[in-house]
Amino acid sequence: MSRTVYLNGEWLDEADAKISIFDRGYTFADAIYEVTAIVGGKLIDYHGHAARLQRSLGELGIECPLNADELLAVHREIVARNNVVEGMIYLQISRGVDDRNFLISKDAKPTFSMFTQTKDVIENPYAKSGISVVSMPDWRWERRDIKTVQLLYPTMAKSQAAAKGADDAWLIEDGFVTEASSATAHIVKQDGTLVTRDLSHVILPGITRASTLDLARAAGIKVEERPFTLGEAKEAAEAFNTSATNFVLPVVRIDGQQIGDGTPGPITKKLRDIYVESRLATAL
Ligand code: PLP
Repeated sequence: MSRTVYLNGEWLDEADAKISIFDRGYTFADAIYEVTAIVGGKLIDYHGHAARLQRSLGELGIECPLNADELLAVHREIVARNNVVEGMIYLQISRGVDDRNFLISKDAKPTFSMFTQTKDVIENPYAKSGISVVSMPDWRWERRDIKTVQLLYPTMAKSQAAAKGADDAWLIEDGFVTEASSATAHIVKQDGTLVTRDLSHVILPGITRASTLDLARAAGIKVEERPFTLGEAKEAAEAFNTSATNFVLPVVRIDGQQIGDGTPGPITKKLRDIYVESRLATAL
């Protein structure tokens, strides 16, 4: 079934949504994006995603074409127009159309696009089985805190992981885990402490990460925000990823080495359960 998408103020059939080949998102990856999960036709963690969107735009000096009320309204309308019960909204804002020029012009008018995709978010089979990851060097640029569309390396890493029979890649820099190819990486130590990398320019400030850490602390789980090594991860009791459409996703194997007993651990399962419960209660 053809989707209705949003492009620069218009609701269009997906086949009619066209963007110029001069768009700087296309020529320079000069664009940012957000992904927000939909469950029961409602938006999960919307305010976090809207705030990070503004931050990414601010870092690149791109103006958001919509104000806060309009932004929420188009999110709601795209869900309604496409009757999405479960899945996600992909939103992208590029600097806009300009002659090819490395120098950033202030005159370009941002290109704003949005589409939906359906996906089983709650009944994700990987949440039950857990996933396997392989380690790879983190060869991305150093401003990973900005959610830009420069995703070539993550797509290469994920494809190489698949070629090795794994589900995802955990990226390593100077011996420490930065994050997964498109998710935040976490471990649970043998004493039950949750360890996740502290925020800096080298990782994306995950919205699911922030919510999960709040929920963990509220549940009495000790949380350490600091870099951890690949070796520490392999010796951990549990490991998991967090991201907008996978929520809390158990990692049961790293570089072929089993984590814990090779099945999703109790703290990971508990965090997924409380994440789902609390997000459904606060969905917009
Ligand atoms: N880290 C990277 C590199 C990502 O691409 C993503 C999500 O796309 C995340 C972390 C998780 O962020 P969020 O929880 O906001 O989806």
